[in-house]
Amino acid sequence: MAVLEHLTSQQAIDLENKYGAHNYHPLPVVLSKGEGVYVWDVEGKKYYDFLSAYSAVNQGHCHPKIVGAMVNQAQTLTLTSRAFYNDMLGRYEKFATEFFGFDKLLPMNTGAEAVETALKLCRKWAYEVKGIEENEAEIIVCKNNFHGRTTTIISFSNDPVARKNFGPFTNGFIKVDYDNLTELEEALKNNKNVAGFMAEPIQGEAGVYVPSEGYLAAAKALCEKYNVLFIADEVQTGIARTGKLLAVQHENVQPDILILGKALSGGAYPVSAVLANDSIMNVIKPGNHGSTFGGNPVAAAVAIAALEVVKEEKLAENAERLGKIFREELGKFVDENELVTLVRGKGLLNAVVINDTEDSDTAWNICMKLRDNGLLAKPTHGNIIRFAPPLVMNEEQLRDCIDIIKKTIAEFSK
Ligand SMILES: *Cc1c(COP(=O)(O)O)cnc(C)c1O
Repeated sequence: MAVLEHLTSQQAIDLENKYGAHNYHPLPVVLSKGEGVYVWDVEGKKYYDFLSAYSAVNQGHCHPKIVGAMVNQAQTLTLTSRAFYNDMLGRYEKFATEFFGFDKLLPMNTGAEAVETALKLCRKWAYEVKGIEENEAEIIVCKNNFHGRTTTIISFSNDPVARKNFGPFTNGFIKVDYDNLTELEEALKNNKNVAGFMAEPIQGEAGVYVPSEGYLAAAKALCEKYNVLFIADEVQTGIARTGKLLAVQHENVQPDILILGKALSGGAYPVSAVLANDSIMNVIKPGNHGSTFGGNPVAAAVAIAALEVVKEEKLAENAERLGKIFREELGKFVDENELVTLVRGKGLLNAVVINDTEDSDTAWNICMKLRDNGLLAKPTHGNIIRFAPPLVMNEEQLRDCIDIIKKTIAEFSK
């Protein structure tokens, strides 16, 4: 078979199964085109995308402004490495730091790399500014976190599937319950070696777990009290997903270290970043940290365009408004339906909890039926289905999708 010959869905799936590592369990649908809130499979069937590549495609598939910026820059200069300056990085750094309100930005590519960067930055700050004894620094994280897949990041995961047989693990992390301020203060108190507290403002992979109102602001206040850095992993919740530019802004919190990825490029290119003020970021000196591709001119051009789209198209406001409709409508449905117990979320990051055990395949089967009915979503943690469409959706499309979801779940309840 010629490499570029047209494939059927089954042929494409067979190729991945035979020649690719089996590190994912995809829903059986093979996509070959995307535009705005829609994707098409290789047979030409059209779907609403209700995953948005884990919230990377907030600006919609193949946004013309973002793709235009990418193509234009790709035809001009793609990569210099940081051995030399390029004429796009500084412009992007100025734009993004002003956009989010920080002094400085450190550019990386993937979310996991940005998390690693934040952890290194936090530790270095702890030794050089806070004055913790060398190799003694500890960082507090939350149970059921998801911060990525590197060896250090899985060292503080409590997902057995992500950890098993990948040890030995990195030391220096303390786990506390999410949304539990008493435990957090207990861990901070009487421990001079705590450098930082890292959390997701909403736990996305754990099943869109929204903490109690006031949790983030109170956690930030505790961090200040104990001279510890508050690190917000907004890789999934950031860039307008939850109805604000950043999810921490629901509680008027400015983190000490902000981690961004995913929608920072609108899904066009791997772009991630760590932002902090000078008092923290200035501990990083030449040679301490880096990445060949981090801060390349294509990434810089794409990220500027992606952030401009968020502002120009008022995506945060749209996510806030449509999210309310989504939870209100599905909330009514949940009240009358036995199979679903709960709808929760913020903005357009929502989840529906299926009234079933975690190891049942009901949520998977519902996602298969949703696929047949023209809507793509994926279970997270067994019995939870995440619903996160591109933020460029309009109300008519959303109501259409709510009907598909209700109709599909109703078919299962019979
Ligand atoms: C997706 C995600 C990451 C990891 O991003 P990658 O680009 O997959 O490495 C980190 N943190 C959170 C909260 C995420 O959702």
